[in-house]
Amino acid sequence: DFNACRPFLLSVVVPVYNEIQVLPQFMERLTVVLESIKQPYEILLVDDGSTDGSGDMMQRFVLSMPSVRVIWLSRNFGKEAAVTAGLAEAKGDAAVLIDADLQDPPELIPEMVDNWRDGADMVCMRRRSRAGENWFKCTSASLFYRLLNRISRFDIPPDTGDFRLMSRRVLNALNRLPERN
Ligand code: UDP
Ligand code: MG
Repeated sequence: DFNACRPFLLSVVVPVYNEIQVLPQFMERLTVVLESIKQPYEILLVDDGSTDGSGDMMQRFVLSMPSVRVIWLSRNFGKEAAVTAGLAEAKGDAAVLIDADLQDPPELIPEMVDNWRDGADMVCMRRRSRAGENWFKCTSASLFYRLLNRISRFDIPPDTGDFRLMSRRVLNALNRLPERN
């Protein structure tokens, strides 16, 4: 039973692979946003076998920021495995999944939280543009969603990436699946 007045813990799960260029800026923007929500939170960074020093940087975040935890994977397993590990470890009443490369603006998280507080189990964000992505990526993405929606029993809105919020109910269901993609 959902009570909109009850305090909540928000988890933010971030798969990270060689993001040393953007990681400081990402963490800065993310923490400013999370502090503004005025509720407890945890940032769960998943180091997917970075080789560019991102791992050491994340170690420093853990030491200086009490709300940060890191899962270090032993090698690069790919984003899906990193996300699965992070979601399994999330302790929150809800979890936001967000990329570290700032293609997903952290500033939208409060609105996602509001929608969850209003009762949504899943809040999916949609890319308005694919700025910085090349013709091949745009065309293949468009084909991917057309094909996906032809074969799927469910309508999957185009250009919804992984930027989303999931309720505890969804997280529990997801964590029970053996599926990894
Ligand atoms: N990522 C990861 N493991 C990988 C590749 C990427 O954890 O093997 C992370 C990456 O650091 C970023 C997110 O997954 O936070 C999305 O990666 P990318 O920007 O390459 O994917 P796209 O924007 O094309 O979906
Ligand atoms: Mg990206």
